Amino acid sequence: MSIKNEQRRIPREPSTQGIEYRRLGRSELVVSNIGFGASPLGNVFGKTDPDGGKRAVHCAIENGITFFDVSPYYGLTLAEERLGDALVGYRDQIILATKCGRYGEDRFDFSANTISAGLEDSLRRLKTDHVDLLQVHDVEFGDLAQIVHETIPAMRKLQEQGKTRAIGITGYPLRALTRIAESIPVDTILTYCRYNLMITDMDEILTPVAIEEDIGLINASVLNMGLLTERGAPDWHPALPEIREAGKRAVDLCSRRGVSLPAIAIRFALDHPCVSSTLVGMSSVQHVYETIDALTARSDIELMEEIRAILKPVLNSVWVSGRPENQ
Ligand code: NAD
Repeated sequence: MSIKNEQRRIPREPSTQGIEYRRLGRSELVVSNIGFGASPLGNVFGKTDPDGGKRAVHCAIENGITFFDVSPYYGLTLAEERLGDALVGYRDQIILATKCGRYGEDRFDFSANTISAGLEDSLRRLKTDHVDLLQVHDVEFGDLAQIVHETIPAMRKLQEQGKTRAIGITGYPLRALTRIAESIPVDTILTYCRYNLMITDMDEILTPVAIEEDIGLINASVLNMGLLTERGAPDWHPALPEIREAGKRAVDLCSRRGVSLPAIAIRFALDHPCVSSTLVGMSSVQHVYETIDALTARSDIELMEEIRAILKPVLNSVWVSGRPENQ
C-alpha cells in the first residue's frame, strides 16, 4: 500500500465485532467492510445447498454484514432468486447491489431498454421495489462508448425514479474501468482478482483514480475465485496451470501448519485502507464465521513470508477478459 493511499484512509465507524462500516465514495451508502458475494448461491462454484445458503445470509446479517452483491448472470438468475427468498423480512437491514448488462456466459446487452427491463426482472426476483446499487456487469465485454453515452445515463434515470440509490461499474481490465470513470461520474467501481495475495495491480491503476474521484471501491474475489482454497479453482477458472499450481502449494503449506489460507487471504484484503467493502463469495454459515474471524486473526509474519515466496513467481499474472480493444 503506497503512502499516498495510506493518507486517504476512509473514515470508519467502530463496531463491536471487528466489522467496520464505510461510506461508498460520495454516495449516501454506508456498507460493512466485509461484503457477502452471492454468486455461490447460484452454484457458480459447484452445487450448493439452498437452505445452507439461506442460513448463511441470515447468519451474515445477524453478525453485522450489511452489504450483499449479486447479479442476474450468477446461475442464470438462480443467485438472485435464492438471495431474494433469503432476504424476506431482512431487506431493510442491508445494502443490496445487483448488476445489469450481462445475462449469460456470452449474453451481453448494454442498451438502455434492456438495462431498464433487466432491473425490473431483478427486482421481482429479489422481492424488493428498489436496489441500493446497480452496476454495469463486466464493462470490458461492451462498447465503452455505448456504456458512457447510453448505459450509464439510463441508469441515472433509474436512480431518479427511485429504482436504485447509486450506480457503478464492474469488470476485470483495470484501464477499461478507469476510462469510463474518467469520462462520466460513477458512484462505485468493483473489480475482481486484482488485489489479493496473488496480485496487487489494482493499486497501481484503479485505486488512485477511485481516491481522486471519490468513488467507492469494491474489491472482489480475494480468494482468487477459489484458487486460494482447499477445494481449488473451478474448471472454468481462466488462470494458467502454473498459477493454479502455486495456489495449491500455498494451500498445502498452510494445511501442514494447521492454518487456513482463506483466512489469511481474506485478512490481507480486509487490511486495505481504501477499499470500502471486500466481497467474499459465501454460501455456508461456516464460511461466514471464518470470514468474520479473519478480521481478528493474529498475523504470522514468518508464515506470510513463506506464502509470498511460493506465490512470487506468479505474482501479478493476469488473463484476458473481454473485447481486444478493452484490454
Ligand atoms: P472468491 O474469491 O470470494 O471465492 C469464492 C469461493 O471460495 C467459493 O467457492 C466459496 O465457497 C469459497 N470460500 C469462501 N469462503 C471460504 C473459506 N473461508 N474457506 C474456504 N473456501 C471459502 O470469489 P467470488 O465469489 O467470485 O468473489 C466474491 C464475490 O464478488 C462474488 O460472489 C460476486 O458477488 C463478486 N464478484 C463480482 C464480479 C463482477 O462484478 N464482475 C466478478 C467477480 C466477483
